Amino acid sequence: MFNTTHFPKALKYWHEGKFYVWSDAHVHPMAHALHYGSSVLEGIRAYSTARGTAIFRLNEHIDRFLYSAAVAKMNFPYTKEDIIRVIKLTLKENKLESAYIRPMMFYSYGNLGLVPKFCSVELVVATWEWGAYLGEKSVNGVSVCIVSWRRLHHSQLDMKAKLGGAYIQSTICGLETRAKGYDEAIFLNLEGNVAEGPGENIFIVKDGVLKTNDTSESILEGITRTSLVEMAKDEGYKMVIGPISREEFFAADEVFFSGTAVEVTPIIRVTDGSDPAGPKKEYVIGSGRVGETTRRLRQMFKEVVTGQIRKYEKWITFLEG
Ligand code: PMP
Repeated sequence: MFNTTHFPKALKYWHEGKFYVWSDAHVHPMAHALHYGSSVLEGIRAYSTARGTAIFRLNEHIDRFLYSAAVAKMNFPYTKEDIIRVIKLTLKENKLESAYIRPMMFYSYGNLGLVPKFCSVELVVATWEWGAYLGEKSVNGVSVCIVSWRRLHHSQLDMKAKLGGAYIQSTICGLETRAKGYDEAIFLNLEGNVAEGPGENIFIVKDGVLKTNDTSESILEGITRTSLVEMAKDEGYKMVIGPISREEFFAADEVFFSGTAVEVTPIIRVTDGSDPAGPKKEYVIGSGRVGETTRRLRQMFKEVVTGQIRKYEKWITFLEG
């Protein structure tokens, strides 16, 4: 019943101390998280390198995972070291050299009141092979649409946490934009500035200066984003952290998404659909082609995650050793 068509190379997943064959699922349909999104998650990538499999910024991802679990007021017996051990075991069990890694913790079966008083908190770790998140053609740039729904505000929910339920907004807007023929959605925040994509942060480039926003703009503080900020500064780029207005976005020379799944993905066209009743205007970003800065940072990111730049080896955990 559960095949691996959209989970290439997934053999087994880990759940509460045991490995299960991928097609063997056993979570009860009355599990709390299925109804209310009461789960926390991470998305991590491991890369095949000359020195074996390397997991990118594993520590930071697990710190964020534990932060999310604390935000969701979860009680669980796992330490950071336990979770790291399970991730490594799961990669090995699936014989994967490069992979997407999904740790997820959720309120499981117990009761269905909104307060999960009698629900156990359970940990799952799964890995599979995941190529370009927005499709193979995304290397040449994607088209995005600014949706009219504003990003959940950081005064409404802790947007620094990866909370399962909060992703319903990403899912709805992702579906809406794809139905209209765009590759991805962009959210404005309540202040009217550009916030982020459904699962991606945003950088703009103007006259050689890079700009991205921070958590004061209702975004997830992406680990890819933080890495790129440091790398770009090291390379001598001027980097501004601050609100990105819609006008700045439209007038940028280059725009790109950053994230574990999308890595560095150029954005070459944007449609402003922020006013549901108003006309939709399309803008071409810069030349409409992948820009020089995007290209350079994308290449550098590839080298960093595959352990080819010594300075950033501090961000890599090798599977063996
Ligand atoms: N924003 C959101 C809402 C996300 O889900 C993600 C993916 N985790 C990102 C940004 C990018 O974060 P990261 O670079 O840590 O993957």
